Order: sequence, then C-alpha cells, then structure tokens
Amino acid sequence: MSDRKPAEIARDAFKLIADRKQQPSPANYEAAYHEIAGTKSTDIPFPEDALRKVVLSLPAHEAGLAKAVASVESAIAKHNWAAFRNSLLDYVSKVDTHGEQAGRPADKLNVEVREQVARLMEHVAPALGTDDERFTRQVHELIALLRNPSIDMAAAKTALSNFNLKLSFVGEEQGAIRSTLLHLLSLMFENISALGIEDRWLVGQVQVLMEAATPPLNLKRLDDVKRKLLDVIAKQTDAKARSIEAQAQVKIMLATFIERLSQMTATTGQFRNEVDDFAKVVEHAQALEEIGPALQTVLLATRNMEESARQVGSELTSIRERAMQAEEEIIKLQGELDKASVQARLDPLTGALNRRGLDEAFAREIQMARRKGSQLCLAMLDIDNFKVLNDTHGHKTGDAALSHLVAVARTCMRPQDTMARYGGEEFVILLPETSLEHAVETTQRLQRELTKRFFLQNNERLLITFSAGVALLEANETPDDAVKRADHAMYLAKRAGKNRVFAAT
Ligand code: GH3
Ligand code: MG
Ligand code: MG
Repeated sequence: MSDRKPAEIARDAFKLIADRKQQPSPANYEAAYHEIAGTKSTDIPFPEDALRKVVLSLPAHEAGLAKAVASVESAIAKHNWAAFRNSLLDYVSKVDTHGEQAGRPADKLNVEVREQVARLMEHVAPALGTDDERFTRQVHELIALLRNPSIDMAAAKTALSNFNLKLSFVGEEQGAIRSTLLHLLSLMFENISALGIEDRWLVGQVQVLMEAATPPLNLKRLDDVKRKLLDVIAKQTDAKARSIEAQAQVKIMLATFIERLSQMTATTGQFRNEVDDFAKVVEHAQALEEIGPALQTVLLATRNMEESARQVGSELTSIRERAMQAEEEIIKLQGELDKASVQARLDPLTGALNRRGLDEAFAREIQMARRKGSQLCLAMLDIDNFKVLNDTHGHKTGDAALSHLVAVARTCMRPQDTMARYGGEEFVILLPETSLEHAVETTQRLQRELTKRFFLQNNERLLITFSAGVALLEANETPDDAVKRADHAMYLAKRAGKNRVFAAT
C-alpha cells in the first residue's frame, strides 16, 4: 500500500496509460490507479472489449433486432450491468418472435415450413384465376415475403390470414363458375341437338357429348368432350353448307317458275282479250269479209299462245331435271359426309371411338403409361353368335344390339377407360392404370351387366354375350402386337365355349 497522495497517484496513473498507449477508458484508468497505489480493485473490471466482441456476433439484420443490439452496446459503453442485462433480455425476446438464426433446428424447420407454404400458394394461385389483379398481386407479394430470410413474421401472419379469407371466397366462386359453365355447356348441347333434330347421326353424337360432360369430370373426359365436339361441329358445318346450297337451288327454281307462270298468265290474258274482240267483230259483222282481218289476228294469237305454252312446258321440264340433279347431288354429298364422319374419330352407329379414334387414344394412353410407369390393359371383345341374331331378328336389331352393348359398357366402365369399335361386332376397351387381373375382372363385370340389363327388342328379351381376350401391354410392345395377343386370347375363349374372358399370355 502506497502512502502517496491521491492527486499524485491519479497523475501517475494517467502517465502510465499514456506510456502503455492504452485507451483512456474508465476501466483502464481504474486498473492503473490501483497498480500505482498498490491497492486492489474492489470491483471486477468491466469486460468492455470482450462484451463488444460478443455483441458484434449477434444477428441484427432486422430493424427490431438492430435496435435491441444498439441498446446492448450503449449499456456496455456505460459499464452498466443492470442496463446490459435488461437490454440483452429484450434482444433475446425479439429473437424469439422475429429472429431467425440458421443452424438452430427449430428455425430450420421454420424456413422449410415457410418454403412449403410458399410452394402451396404457387400451386394454388393458377386455380384461383387471374381476374382479380389485386388479389393476384397480393398472392405474389406474400410468396416473396415467405421466402425473405429476414421475414417479419407478424406481417406474414396477417397477410396469410387475409389470404385464407379471400381464398374461401374465391374457392366458392370458382366452384360456382365451374358448375355454371357445365350448365351452359349442356344447354348448348341441347340446343345443337334441337337444331339438327333430323340428323340421326348428330342426335346420337350430341347424346354422347351430354354424357361425357356430366360430372365428375377429369382431364381425360374433358379431352373426349373436346374431340367429340369438334366432330359434331365439323358435321354441322357441312350440313349447314349443304342445306344453304339446297335452299338456294330451290329459290332459283321457284323464281323461274313464278316468272314463267306470270308470263303465261299474261299471254293467256292477251289471248282472251283478242278472242273477245274477235267475238265482238263476229257479232257485229254484216259480211264475211269483215271477219277476215280479225280472224288473222286471232290465228296469230293462237299460234303465239301455243308457242308460249310449249316454251313454258319445256322450261318446266328443264326445271324438273335440274331439281332432280340437285337432289342427286345432295344424296351424293350425304354419302360423302357419312364417309367423312366414319373417317373422323367416332363410330356413327354406337358413338364409340372408331379405328382412327382408337389409334389416337391408344398412342396417348401408351405415352401416359410409360411416363407414369403404370400398367395399361386392353380387352378385345367379340359378340357371340351375332350372325344368328342378325339372321333371326334382322340387321336393324343387330345394329341396336351393338349400340346396347356400348351403352351398357359406358355405365360400368371408369371415366378414364376408352371403348372403341374395332370392326363389325368387335370392340376394344383400353383400361389405363389397371393390372391384368383387374382388367379381366372388369371385363367379366361387363358380361354380368349385360345379363342383368337385357336387350329388349319388340318386347322380346334378347341375351347378348361376348367372348374376350385381355392383354397387359408389355414394355416396348407395339399397340398392334398387344391387340394381336388379346385377339388370340379372345379366339381361345371362343374355342373354349364362348361367353368367357381369357387373359393373354
Ligand atoms: P362368333 O360367336 O364365332 O363370333 O360368331 P358370329 O356370328 O358372331 O361371328 P361371324 O364373324 O360369323 O359374324 C359376324 C356377323 O356380324 C356377320 C356380319 O353380318 C355381322 N355384322 C358386322 N357388322 C355389323 C353391323 O354393323 N350391324 C349388324 N347388324 N351386323 C353386323
Ligand atoms: Mg367377329
Ligand atoms: Mg362374333
């Protein structure tokens, strides 16, 4: 312990700090003072530098946190332990509510959850439509906010609950729009069928369309609706052009006929006048010579009359010939159109796909199955003893039986299954995402349905049965090869006694 005066000790302490090139801070001064005085500090020196280093490493990339760090720094500068403790507690509470520190498991989860919510919103956004620009913008802002590392959770929470509220309205609205659109679609189909009511083909196709547009919908069914609608539109456009042409022909013929008729009436009127005049001349004539010139006029008029009648007659014959030609032309056009509709994708009799439609559908399903790595089956059906049915009940009954089979199949197949008429009384059913075992079961179910929903013709119950072969498309197998295998299995089913389903090997 030194016996020097405090003023001297103080002066020497300043000198010591200067010599050591230390900061003239209260802590350094206190330490130097005690060193010279030979006394001990009563307090532990305030560890300012060490604490500053710690504070420097505290995350402060968000306004609230930066403010809290500044308070901690200020408490350190004042060497104020109480303020230091309070400001640090304040910082920690802010970290809990706002902060994110990579590396802490809970925060990592927080980041992941936010990313998932952002993705969820990205996926939902297209389904909500783009009509409401403000809402679309809000959604994108919220997605960006969720992905921002220095997210303000309180703001995000408010934005999310606003979004949820809006979502409930928009979701309801989208549902209503969808069902209204479907309603409009079916009204449109009804309208088409009313317009083309005389066209049997068109009525059949419109019925198929109506069934295809009945909920529940999926993309495949909508795609079917689209293709069928295109066929109907093509047919309607042709039919309209045809009827406009026929109407124009009839109008021209009518106009010519009326013109000739009026000419003839005029000629007849003139002739009658001349005959009347002649009669008057005859009545008042005193001598035969007086009649001579009038007779000449009447003879001339008669010749004119005959000529005119002959002309009108030949005009009428030509009109009749032209009308017959137009009718022949229309019949020819009709034939070409029927051929064109067969070339289109649908079978005109049953409304099932035709061969071309099947080829397209098959290619699509194969592509889908290979992309998804799923199983695709096909069933080849051939009606049993169809010739006998035709021979016994007539070709028309045979036709109706084909339509009946397709109608029954439609009710017991899934929407994603496709039915096509392969040929005369042979049909192919494509069964996507189906194992061989299930495809066989489905085909057998159709057999049972056919026995339940018997085919009624002239009040007589006719039982239709079929034999079928079912094949599972193998990796890299062509559609033709799969059809051949199914066809062979079907042939074996016939040989085994008909009305059965065989799986292809
Ligand atoms: P199986 O049980 O062996 O299959 O005998 P099937 O009589 O069904 O077979 P077949 O091949 O001997 O006769 C098929 C008959 O189907 C002959 C043909 O006149 C008839 N047919 C093909 N297309 C049509 C059609 O569009 N309408 C009608 N009514 N008959 C058709
Ligand atoms: Mg056959
Ligand atoms: Mg047959």
